[in-house]
Formats: sequence, C-alpha cells, structure tokens
Amino acid sequence: MSATQTQNHSRCCIVGGGPAGMMLGLLLARAGVPVSVLEKHGDFLRDFRGDTVHPSTLAILDEIGLRDRFDKLPQRRVDHLAGIVAGREQQIVDFRGLKPYDYLALVPQWDFLDMLADAGRRLSTFDLRMQHAATGLIEEGGRVVGVRVKSPQADYELRADLVVACDGRHSTLRDAAGLKAREYGAPMDVLWFRMPRSESDPQDTFGIVDRGHMMVMLNRDDYWQIAFLVPKGSDAALRARSIDALRETVVQLAPFLADRRGAIESWDKVSTLSVQVDRLERWHKPGLLLIGDAAHAMSPIGGVGINLAIQDAVAAANALAQPLRDGRAIDESVLAAIQRRREWPVKVVQRIQIAIQKRLISRVLETSGEAPRVPALLRFLFRFRAIRHRPARLFGYGLRQEHVHTPASRSLDAGICLHGASH
Ligand SMILES: Cc1cc2nc3c(=O)[nH]c(=O)nc-3n(C[C@H](O)[C@H](O)[C@H](O)COP(=O)(O)OP(=O)(O)OC[C@H]3O[C@@H](n4cnc5c(N)ncnc54)[C@H](O)[C@@H]3O)c2cc1C
Repeated sequence: MSATQTQNHSRCCIVGGGPAGMMLGLLLARAGVPVSVLEKHGDFLRDFRGDTVHPSTLAILDEIGLRDRFDKLPQRRVDHLAGIVAGREQQIVDFRGLKPYDYLALVPQWDFLDMLADAGRRLSTFDLRMQHAATGLIEEGGRVVGVRVKSPQADYELRADLVVACDGRHSTLRDAAGLKAREYGAPMDVLWFRMPRSESDPQDTFGIVDRGHMMVMLNRDDYWQIAFLVPKGSDAALRARSIDALRETVVQLAPFLADRRGAIESWDKVSTLSVQVDRLERWHKPGLLLIGDAAHAMSPIGGVGINLAIQDAVAAANALAQPLRDGRAIDESVLAAIQRRREWPVKVVQRIQIAIQKRLISRVLETSGEAPRVPALLRFLFRFRAIRHRPARLFGYGLRQEHVHTPASRSLDAGICLHGASH
C-alpha cells in the first residue's frame, strides 16, 4: 500500500472506477481537489462491459486534452447504423454530417478506463485504490461522513467530506443509504458472445430482426461482438438446452456465419446481461451523491449507459470542484441541483427506451412465427438523412450536453497539465 493509500481521510471519496467514477475523479483531481477513487477489482479487464463512446464523450475528451490519446486506442468508428428487417436492409441512424463529431467509436471499455486512470495517476491529487471495495457507509449526525472499506491488506474506514457513489447498477452504497429506485422493467435480457469475422463479411455494425429474434452485431475488426435478445427470465431454460439451438438461430439470422457456427463452443462462452431500467427518486442525502448506473440503470438500447454516466460526472464536477477545493462543506442543495440538472435528460432517454422495448422488442420476441415489417411510412421517412440524423443526435449527443467548466489546476506536480478547457 502506498503512502497515499494509508490516508484515512479524503476530501472526496468516489466509490467505483467505471466511466462515471474515473471521469469524476479525473476532473476533480485535475481541478486541484484531492480525491480517492475506490475500485473493487484489481484491473479494468472485465468481460464485455459496453464499448460505445458517443460524440458527447468525444467532446469531453477534447475539452480535457485527451482526444489524441483516445484516438490512439484500438477502435472502430461507426458513422451509420442499419437494421436488417426480415431480410430487407433499412438505414436507421446516420451520424454523417453531424457536427462536430460524425461517428461513434467502439473502444474496449478497459482501454478507455486505463487511459483515464493513467491520466489521473499523473496528478498528485488523484489517489486510485484498486482492489478496495466499499462495504458500507459511515453516518454521523444524519450525514454520511465516509465509507467502510475492504482491501487485501486491511479493512479500514475512509472518512470524506463528500462520498460519491459510482458503483454501478448493483450499488452497495445505494442499498446502504436506503435510497429506493423505481423499476421500469424490461421485456428482454441480452446474451453476449463473440464470433470470428472474415474479410468478406459485411463491414457495418447493424441489427437483425426476423421471426421472433433480434440480434445486434458490432464489428470489432477480427470478431463480431453479438448481442442476442431473449425474453426476460428465459436464460436458465435456454441454457438447459443444447448450444446447437442458439447456433442455428444465429446462422438463420446471419447466414454468412454458417461456416463458424462452432465458434460458440458452449454456454460458457455466452454471458447474460440481465436488462434493468430503473431510476432513483433521490440521488443524494447529506454527504452522499449517486451518479451513473448507481442512480439510473439504462436499457442497452442506443448504447447510452457509458455516455450518460460521463455526462453525470461532468455535471457533478462542474458543481463540486470549487466548493471542494475551497474546503467548504457541501450543502445538500448543491447535490439536489446536480440531480435536477441530470434527471431530465436521463428520464427522457429512459422513456424513449421503454417505448421501444414495448412497441418493438416485446412484439418481436412474442411473435415467433411472423416476419416483421417496417411500416411503409417509416421506410419512406428513413430514406431522408435529415430524419436519420434525429436518433443520431439524440443518442449521440444527448439532450443536455455537458461541457467541462472545471479549471485545470496550476499546481499539478507531474509536469503534465491536461488542457484547461473551459466553455
Ligand atoms: C454487458 C453489458 C453491455 C453494455 N453495453 C453498453 C454499450 O455498448 N454502450 C454503453 O454506453 N453502455 C453499455 N452498457 C452499460 C454501461 O456499461 C454502463 O451504463 C456504464 O458502464 C455505467 O457506468 P458507471 O460508471 O455508472 O458504472 P459501472 O460501469 O458499472 O462501474 C461501476 C464500477 O464500480 C465498481 N464497484 C462496484 N461496487 C463497488 C464497491 N462496493 N466498491 C468499490 N468499487 C465498486 C465496479 O467494479 C465497477 O468498476 C453495458 C452494460 C453491460 C453490463
């Protein structure tokens, strides 16, 4: 354990080193606020966690001077998305021509998080503690004053002027704080697996809908990352059957994979995302703020989870950096203002996701024998790029785009001052 890791007080303790926690930690540390980020895992290498970095996040990376480093990460740029509905291709989303970024980047999340961690480690104010899990809150006089921590070296208490829970959809701190989330339900779960890609395969990233099945194929150059939708709760029954059933359905939907069907070797190669859509009624209590998935788990529709988590982090940093740096106590009204700012865009996107789940996904998964059809009016409208720009702008940039207003501190000791972008 390093010298900083033995400290048992932090100005701001951030629990969770996902997109929300790492971005918030970096922005605050860069503004000169001493932060401790606790991450329960030893690295960021997890199975597929979502890779879509949208234009709103590209803009943030630009504003803090990390765009060049980000562009060097292994990635694939996607500038439009198509659907193949009952064998008929339909363009749905088109980023081309949108300004200032006309694509989304598919980047392994661990590379993205490693990049943020690396930038943070160059700042003396950034204290990242890997394999340190928060197990509970310390509350005194009705206020959260720290967290209990379990690490390989010791169990200890970390006191902090503010705790920010960024510990994801199964948030320990949300439960510890007794905050209740409203569940909105989802008709589907998602099976994730990989299949090799061959040069003659389609180049696009696209969705396929046919006869009771839906699947999204993300082109990752040498492999396809496949999201296969199944009715909610059907995972156990599916896994009790032979893997051949899944292989056959995948090949029916994407016949070009026929020569590789054996690549899904067994159910062990398939992981399940239990889709959950929920939102906390209150994202805070005195001394505690929750953001990202801990405050609102998103449906995978639109691949917005990472990007909304980052937008929350930017909004939180903008509101918190100055008072934390000045050593002022953070009043709960500041935390309530962060919720007010972020709740509306989250709510609108969740409503759209829920409508798509009900009107499209439920219907497809329930009507196994029928070939689905895109209504003629929609087919006509989607011919126009201006129409296809609408979902691209909504999911790509979000509804209330955040910009970095936190300063880059002049007192950084590593000789590296990430750009001081203020808008
Ligand atoms: C299979 C899958 C595919 C997805 N695909 C996409 C996609 O393509 N695009 C997209 O935008 N979103 C996607 N998502 C959603 C996206 O990953 C999340 O919305 C996003 O990561 C939320 O960021 P976060 O920082 O709030 O939480 P998380 O990314 O969940 O990060 C939480 C972090 O907290 C850590 N942690 C948890 N508990 C503790 C604790 N007690 N103490 C210390 N650390 C703790 C966890 O290890 C984790 O690193 C996907 C999610 C899954 C599961």
